[in-house]
Amino acid sequence: ERINIAIDGPAGAGKSTVARKVAEQLGYVYIDTGAMYRAVTLSALRSGIDPLDGPEIASHAASLDIRLLPGEQGQRVLLNGEDVTEEIRSREVTQNVSQVAANGAVRRLLAEKQRRLADRKGVVMDGRDIGSHVLPDAELKVFLTASASERALRRYREIGDAQGVSLEQLEREIEERDRMDRERDVSPLVCASDAVVMDSTAMTIEEVCSAIVSLSRT
Ligand code: C5P
Repeated sequence: ERINIAIDGPAGAGKSTVARKVAEQLGYVYIDTGAMYRAVTLSALRSGIDPLDGPEIASHAASLDIRLLPGEQGQRVLLNGEDVTEEIRSREVTQNVSQVAANGAVRRLLAEKQRRLADRKGVVMDGRDIGSHVLPDAELKVFLTASASERALRRYREIGDAQGVSLEQLEREIEERDRMDRERDVSPLVCASDAVVMDSTAMTIEEVCSAIVSLSRT
């Protein structure tokens, strides 16, 4: 019996790596919802739209064709047919995405898309509001956390060198993004009341994955 698994938590907790591996192990589809918010942000920035201009952002988002393609190397992201998988990870996108994600109309639009993708079960979806809002009926909900300094360190190992940012800078940016994600009015980052909380600070990726896979089988 296939189920849906929601994995939420703050930035840098390891959600995407864990979600991808769990999906692989279960033969499920991995869906990275942050990539959708990032694709809207990238497109708005390219068009010179101010991320804080709510109505403009909302109508721009509604005009876009965003697709997630499950692939061998992980999920690819297509924006109006263009592969933007790498570009949506840029610093500029990362620094603006939480403003775009605070837009209620954008959230409604993307949440609807996300629900459709999970229609047939067998999905591991990672984000901020999946267990609390997008898939409230998900059979398994995990809220993955880690200390702020550990999360910054993980991000730093991933991108610090390539993007020329210091560890301190990354830690500040992660905290600012989490604050915006927690404080926004529409479907903020919260732990669903029925979610299993996992603190991954002292756990390896493998340990977190096998804990989730076992939970999915109970
Ligand atoms: O997961 P990732 O860090 O790529 O997400 C980027 C941003 O997208 C988050 O900081 C958050 O502002 C937004 N997001 C969201 N709801 C989701 C997934 C991501 O608001 N379900």
